[in-house]
Amino acid sequence: LRTSFSVIQKETGFVNGVIAVLHDNTEQEKIDMERREFVANVSHELRTPLTTMRSYLEALADGAWEDPDLAPNFLNVTQTETERMIRLVNDLLKLSKMDSNETELNKEMVEFNVFFNRIIDRFEMSKSQNVHFERQLPKEQYFVEIDPDKLTQVIDNIISNALKYSPEGGKVRFDMMEQDGYIMIRISDQGMGIPKENIDKIFDRFYRVDRARSREMGGTGLGLAISKEMINAHGGVIWAESQYGRGTTIYFTLPYELDDGDEWE
Ligand code: ADP
Repeated sequence: LRTSFSVIQKETGFVNGVIAVLHDNTEQEKIDMERREFVANVSHELRTPLTTMRSYLEALADGAWEDPDLAPNFLNVTQTETERMIRLVNDLLKLSKMDSNETELNKEMVEFNVFFNRIIDRFEMSKSQNVHFERQLPKEQYFVEIDPDKLTQVIDNIISNALKYSPEGGKVRFDMMEQDGYIMIRISDQGMGIPKENIDKIFDRFYRVDRARSREMGGTGLGLAISKEMINAHGGVIWAESQYGRGTTIYFTLPYELDDGDEWE
């Protein structure tokens, strides 16, 4: 809080009064601090792959390129790091577009059950781990007006996190329910979980419970931050619950069109 004073003075020089104005700087200061933190994070996230690449390229230039055992391996590392940077920059562009409200939602009427099942099927077909999928989806149809590409990104991100953190032989459960004009989607895993004090932070940009582990798995730390923006843009909310060491559940809601079908009866 900042206070500024103005003195009200007559032409004769007499002071009539004093006005004190209280400025609430806390909100602005918070935004400034977040911005500085964000820039520092971006720089750090870009510097790490760049310095890795530099050392591998140096080693190659110093002669490793002639070594048939080392060369492919070193090139592979530089490729992986390049791909990470591309992913990071793409995620940053998505966020910056959403920040400046340039993201348009290309909404379509979609039956959510069909849409959701198709995404789960895709993961079920291609997953390499021994993780069991369990679906508890209602038989009713739920029509939602959504941008299918954006919602696909959100669900992809949640499912790939669930798989990333699932133990061998674990279960990922999908269910969905309806309440007061909203559908609520729930995706649960039996993975390592998230400590209670960090649970809300996982939607913050660059926040990771375990930075090294997330990096190792190719994460940018922006997936859930993007998901949150996208769900909010659709008029829904997203949150998480977790029991540390036992598993994590991600919830999100979407408004849906009530299809009572009365007019046809
Ligand atoms: P990342 O690219 O690191 O996956 P996200 O924004 O998708 O970034 O997630 C942020 C962090 O939230 C992750 O680094 C991880 O620590 C935590 N997290 C997300 N989903 C899960 C999950 N299903 N189980 C445990 N931790 C999770």
